[in-house]
Amino acid sequence: MIRIKFGAGGSQEIKKVCNVCKKAVIQDLQVEDILVKKPSDIKVFDKDGNEITRTKLPDDLVNSVCEDCK
Ligand SMILES: [Zn+2]
Repeated sequence: MIRIKFGAGGSQEIKKVCNVCKKAVIQDLQVEDILVKKPSDIKVFDKDGNEITRTKLPDDLVNSVCEDCK
């Protein structure tokens, strides 16, 4: 699962955490890792200028289990 924590001053922390214990951090993520395209006129690009066209997050981002919970 993905956890986003907003900090003071507009900072944000995006992490992939374990779906089972909801504590273990599996991976640090960037905003563009969790961007998806919604049906709209807005075009979304990653930092390399590639347009983001996926409409849902990959399963391995949404479902993640840490080594301890496996
Ligand atoms: Zn776990």
